[in-house]
Amino acid sequence: MFLWPGAAGLPVPREPSRRAPSVTVGPGGRLLSLSAAWFGDGAQRRTEARRARKCVECSRPLSNARSPYCSRNCQWKFHGHYFWDAARIYVKRRDRYICAHCRRRFRSKELEVDHIVEIARGGPALEYANLQTLCRECHRAKTREYLGAIARSRAEDPVPPPPAFESVRT
Ligand SMILES: [Zn+2]
Ligand SMILES: [Zn+2]
Repeated sequence: MFLWPGAAGLPVPREPSRRAPSVTVGPGGRLLSLSAAWFGDGAQRRTEARRARKCVECSRPLSNARSPYCSRNCQWKFHGHYFWDAARIYVKRRDRYICAHCRRRFRSKELEVDHIVEIARGGPALEYANLQTLCRECHRAKTREYLGAIARSRAEDPVPPPPAFESVRT
C-alpha cells in the first residue's frame, strides 16, 4: 500500500518556494505552462545571471556570458520551474530512471512523473520536492488507491440532501 504525505491524516507539506511559482491548472486538470512567468520573472533572472556570470540555477561561476546555465542539467532544471515537459525530463534524470516505489530501473518512455501530493489536494504542480518518478504500473496503483480513498471518504460523509421544496400556494 502506498503512503503519501497527507494520507491517514498526515500533514500535507506546503513549503512556499521562492524559485517555483505556482502553476495554473487548466480545464480537465491539465497542466498549463508558466510561459508568462518564463518571459517575465524568468527572463529577468536569466539576464541577471549572465551579467553576474553565475549559473541561474546553481549559482556556480560561468566561464562566459553567452548562456545563463553552467550545464545541461541546470538548463533542464531551470526550464522545469516553468514547463511541465522540462520538469518531467529533469525529474527522471534526477531519479536515475528508477521507480520510487518498486525501485526497478526502466527506460525513460516507460516512466511517468507523479505528484506525490496530488494537485487536486493542493500539491504544488511544478515543485521538485513534490515530484517523483514512478513506473506505469506503480503510478496506476497509486492513482487507484487515491481514487478509492476519495470514494470511501464520500461514502462515509455523504452529501446532505437538498432542502425540501416548499411549494408556494397562491
Ligand atoms: Zn548550474
Ligand atoms: Zn514501479
